[in-house]
Amino acid sequence: MPEFFVAEALDKELDTLPKAKTVPRHEMRTDVLVIGAGPTGLACAIEALKIGLKVIVVDKGCLVNSLFHYPVGMLFFTTPELLEIGDIPFTTAQQKPTREEALEYYRKVTEHYSLDIRQYEWVKTVMGEDGDFAITATDRAGRPHDYRAKKVIVATGYYDLSNKLEIPGEDLPKVSHYYGEPHPYYDTDVMVIGGKNSAAIAALDLWRHGARVTLVYRGSQLHHHVKYWIKPDLENRIKAGEIEAYFNSFVQEIAIDHVVIITPRGPIRLKNDFVLAMVGYHPDYDFLRSMGIELSDEQHRPVCDPVSLESNVRGIYVAGVIVAGSRTNEIFIENGRFHGKQIAADLKIKIKP
Ligand code: NAP
Repeated sequence: MPEFFVAEALDKELDTLPKAKTVPRHEMRTDVLVIGAGPTGLACAIEALKIGLKVIVVDKGCLVNSLFHYPVGMLFFTTPELLEIGDIPFTTAQQKPTREEALEYYRKVTEHYSLDIRQYEWVKTVMGEDGDFAITATDRAGRPHDYRAKKVIVATGYYDLSNKLEIPGEDLPKVSHYYGEPHPYYDTDVMVIGGKNSAAIAALDLWRHGARVTLVYRGSQLHHHVKYWIKPDLENRIKAGEIEAYFNSFVQEIAIDHVVIITPRGPIRLKNDFVLAMVGYHPDYDFLRSMGIELSDEQHRPVCDPVSLESNVRGIYVAGVIVAGSRTNEIFIENGRFHGKQIAADLKIKIKP
């Protein structure tokens, strides 16, 4: 995950604080600890608060970190009411919210409910058992933070871990699995890999802002999941020769100044400055397993009660897209936001404030 969002001022402030060795470790106690401050994690926290529980939310990045890393100015595909949590209305100037409006909305919701959110703390271990979990997180200065919670809700999303191409050169600094904004790519040769929405949006935005764009996709044409208002736009750019596209093609190797792709007509070497591998993302399966959560064989779905969302580890709940395992196109903010209510209904029975 890129680190550019880390505020320099905060770094300086942390430097002035005593180092870990001199600080006695203090355990924060709470009824519920939510891991992940995305829309789903926030919804879970709100629903638990509403039934009178003490809740702490911990996130390794900032509030709604994944949305923060969406492209600047990005328009959501969905209308604002479908992103609402905690019964707080979300209204926007246009029919669909922008990334910036969504960030503002979730900040306001957090403020409204006075949610206790610990940003920039990375949960490393969850030990213990139902009713008494011991959670250790590490902040950006490397200091540990200890929590004790009766219940844990895991809402870690999937945007932090990108799928990999597993090809030589994928680790070069010119390669990114995230698209932020077009300006740095002006007047450069950019290859976009993938054939669904992120790839299509990035390719169009880059081209509109002066990059020379080549799209490489393993499918025979743009995927039918590409939104109906985006697909013809990109198809027309390709038809007009404004964006070069290679279908049924694979990237074989990425080098400093070129990329080798395998096309139906044989290998081609293309001059290249940047590669945007928009090939999707996946949940952190290792983290789930580290807590003892079992995953189904094929799709890595966590074993859980479909109603309460309590996992096979009693007292640990799963929420949001991770419930779908590798089928990340099944759960979005629009439906994951209701997981908080399901979990809270179970917490109400099992835990007394
Ligand atoms: P995605 O839907 O998972 O698409 C990944 C693309 O990468 C697919 O075309 C896939 O090929 C290709 N791919 C995967 N592994 C590959 C490999 N090893 N080699 C070559 N190609 C590979 O990811 P996404 O487009 O980033 O979208 C993620 C989610 O965000 C989706 O739910 C999407 O709808 C959503 N989204 C929302 C917005 C918005 O609200 N404005 C914008 C963008 C995305 P195949 O097609 O062959 O599987």
